[in-house]
Amino acid sequence: MKVTDGMKSGALKSVELDLDWSVQTVLPIEFNGREVMLEAHAYQGEAPEEQALVLIHRDPEAPADVLPVVRVHSGCVTGDIFHSLRCDCYQQLQEALRHITEVPLGVIIYVPYHEGRGIGLFKKIQAYALQDQGLDTVEANIEVGAPIDSRDYDLAARILADLGMNEIKLLSNNPAKEQALKALGVRVADRVPIVISPNPHNQRYLDTKRRRMAHKI
Ligand SMILES: [Zn+2]
Repeated sequence: MKVTDGMKSGALKSVELDLDWSVQTVLPIEFNGREVMLEAHAYQGEAPEEQALVLIHRDPEAPADVLPVVRVHSGCVTGDIFHSLRCDCYQQLQEALRHITEVPLGVIIYVPYHEGRGIGLFKKIQAYALQDQGLDTVEANIEVGAPIDSRDYDLAARILADLGMNEIKLLSNNPAKEQALKALGVRVADRVPIVISPNPHNQRYLDTKRRRMAHKI
């Protein structure tokens, strides 16, 4: 389905891009043993690494005023691709896919450059190595000289504006993500938590998220 001009609203920020900054196609995926047809949009920000993939599940019968359920997912090579048990990214992504395919309008904004909360793949693994020696997630990030969370949600907010989704239900356990999107002008009508059961490898990581980063998990 095409995003029509009528669905677009003015960009939240007045940044005009010279490039053709979004492209769209159809992406059939296999999920839970069935084929699901999704709209796929790719976006390019100003910096080369600022790219995002947006997957949209849209029921053609959905009322025009239905609020989209949106997951802004930070890319995680170890979790999303290799199902690492040191974090909960893979389970969160699967839960997000389940949610978005069960509602009339569901969206995943997948942000690869948010790897390791924005510190990148190398420093993430470096921080893991320090955690092997007993540091927690927050301490390890400080030790590798990376901020605890350096993700920015600017591109995600601009994508939502481009899609005409100025009011959303946010799929997230992270109050800081909700605040960041709100600060960028996105109306968050509701935040829907994603409940994941811990495993022995990520119990400490999830505890740290809860204790030190105010995640509601
Ligand atoms: Zn992860």
